[in-house]
Amino acid sequence: MARGGETRDGGGGEAHARTGVDKKAIQDAVAAILRAIGEDPKREGLADTPRRVADVYEELFSGVHTDPMPLLTVGFDEEQHKEMVIVKDIPFNSMCEHHLLPFHGVAHVGYIPNGRIVGISKIARLVEVLARRPQVQERLTSQVADMLMEGLRARGAAVVIDATHLCMTIRGVKKPGSRVVTSANRGIFRENPSTRAEFMSLLRRS
Ligand SMILES: [Zn+2]
Repeated sequence: MARGGETRDGGGGEAHARTGVDKKAIQDAVAAILRAIGEDPKREGLADTPRRVADVYEELFSGVHTDPMPLLTVGFDEEQHKEMVIVKDIPFNSMCEHHLLPFHGVAHVGYIPNGRIVGISKIARLVEVLARRPQVQERLTSQVADMLMEGLRARGAAVVIDATHLCMTIRGVKKPGSRVVTSANRGIFRENPSTRAEFMSLLRRS
């Protein structure tokens, strides 16, 4: 998408210059869904719904057009610290790309620096940007780990994500309360079982 200006697609919708999300197209689509389920999108309670959904989607999908790599390039050189850094319980909300229903939970992120560290808020923001896309939990987990390796040139990265998926709890098999746990290990966390074990034992500590 064009930077610094609005883009126009073939349908005549306008993508927001900053988020890249075409809210007018979302509004039209939501009105069409309401008609398709047999509702009247013009009735009082629904009249503003397409606009509200467009606002929500703009926020929830703001990561589609955001490159998270600059978050990590503002890291600072720190030759002395070569020990494990762990940021636990980072809350996130994402959207399952199979059903466009939310999944949410916490991410635990660890890495071992190789001369460069980054502010803790940047790690939380990295998770947020990657979560605000149509996602699957496994890919979100891998992407956080891969970004840390690439952006910080870390010696290793480990990510555990623990989440609840609305598509599992409100439909189909209906398993309320069930959680999905995924993990990704890179570099020394993959090569060295004791490093991985240290990470896991630090996660268990409250
Ligand atoms: Zn799903």
